[in-house]
Amino acid sequence: MMTAFFDSMLQLITRTSTDLPPDVRAVMKDALGVEVPGTSSAQAMNIIAENIDQAADAEGPICQDTGMPTFEIKTPAGTNQIWMREQIRQAIAEATRRGKLRPNSVDSITGKNSGDNLGPGTPIIHFHQWDHDEIDVRLILKGGGCENSNAQYALPVELPHLGRAGRDLEGVRKCILHAVWQAQGKGCSPGAIGVCVGGDRTSGYAHAKEQLFRTLDDTNPDPRLAELEAQIMATVNTLGVGPMGFGGAVSLIGCKIGALNRLPASFFVSVAYDCWAFRRLGVVLDPVHGSIRRWLYRDPDVHQEPMIPAGAKGFRKTGREKVLTAPLDEATVRSLAVGEVVLITGRMYTGRDAVHAHLMKHDPPVDLRGSILYHCGPVMLKEGDGYRVKAAGPTTSIREEPYQADIIGRYGVRAVMGKGGMGAKTLAALEEHGAVYLNAIGGAAQFYARAITNVAGVSLLEYGVPEAMWHLDVVDFPAIVTMDAHGNSLHRDVEQQSAEKLELLKA
Ligand code: SF4
Repeated sequence: MMTAFFDSMLQLITRTSTDLPPDVRAVMKDALGVEVPGTSSAQAMNIIAENIDQAADAEGPICQDTGMPTFEIKTPAGTNQIWMREQIRQAIAEATRRGKLRPNSVDSITGKNSGDNLGPGTPIIHFHQWDHDEIDVRLILKGGGCENSNAQYALPVELPHLGRAGRDLEGVRKCILHAVWQAQGKGCSPGAIGVCVGGDRTSGYAHAKEQLFRTLDDTNPDPRLAELEAQIMATVNTLGVGPMGFGGAVSLIGCKIGALNRLPASFFVSVAYDCWAFRRLGVVLDPVHGSIRRWLYRDPDVHQEPMIPAGAKGFRKTGREKVLTAPLDEATVRSLAVGEVVLITGRMYTGRDAVHAHLMKHDPPVDLRGSILYHCGPVMLKEGDGYRVKAAGPTTSIREEPYQADIIGRYGVRAVMGKGGMGAKTLAALEEHGAVYLNAIGGAAQFYARAITNVAGVSLLEYGVPEAMWHLDVVDFPAIVTMDAHGNSLHRDVEQQSAEKLELLKA
């Protein structure tokens, strides 16, 4: 019996959720130095960097979306995989109880959240047998925003702005560029991608995700794929998507490509997009006790330098920030313009997919006139009769596009806040009713949790913790106006400008 196995798994899950691996930290630190100071992109990178440090220091989730736990495990012959699977499931439930993971497992038919991250298909655990006398366990936590930015292409295909992608590595190159451009800021760029050339539709996606277990600084053993990876990295950052899709210098921090044989009739290119919150770690275990022999991807004896030096921590005010006190009035909101940074104080309400669907059929549980509706599914810990926020960054707003305009008009919402921007219908509603879209920095869940001073209440908790409407009191909560009440949208502009740059990479 491996007496230490459960504890080793709990350590692995906790560390993966709260501390980025050194290779990811290194490229993020480089990216931090590349953005032009004073721009929205630089501000986003600073908040991200601060968030990475805060998560590691407090052992709190880096991002509130702790993703789909995916384990890749190699065991010697004779290991009891059934028992190991059950121990991992219990460790996942315990990590959820401790607030290291958000309850993320939802019944696809009823919409009910299981509350402990367990259910059919969750967590994902893949076992492989190998010839070594130790157990290798690797874990990746990949969230919904970046998962929704995955893409799969069946070649040959005509791609917008890039023309025909044929059945060769040149066609693969075009698909990769298209996937990064298409993701814009919705997957919390800068991102990293795993790619599979070939396979069938299912094995292609699985193999693409497996590429994300490679370190960002490794070299592909296949020289043809190594060359393609280098080619992508040398050109992709000219696209100008930038952090959060704000139009800065760094859109991608890594590209890892694998290949599988395919059927003669099929040629798939599968792209697994991961966000900057690229949570991936592993452990090698003693096969008798299940204790940790060594960590993978990190050396616990090496001191981790903070992303931001001690003297430079905290949100860097320029003096140009606009102070907003919620609830908001129409004149104040109409005075805001794209590019302005706001600092919010007052009450805001969270609402994502279930709340939006609910509001289309029912009156709101609170008066939303003048309100800020925050697209966020936080991690909450119950304490006595109340709750404590453990992580509370924004979720991808575009999912609410079918509802948002109606909800703004019907209930008098003055600001919608999330990440990645929204579409033309919402933009028109902002203009018509006098409202704005505020972009918070995706994944900065620790940073924003510290701006929430009180959980004043909760409505619609029957939809589960991430989907409930939380009543949050905030102080100096920073966000950037990216869609205003005058028909301007930074997201539309960056998409158009980056499309022009994409065309330059056609050949
Ligand atoms: S950083 Fe963004 S894309 Fe990544 S898990 Fe968090 S919210 Fe999702």
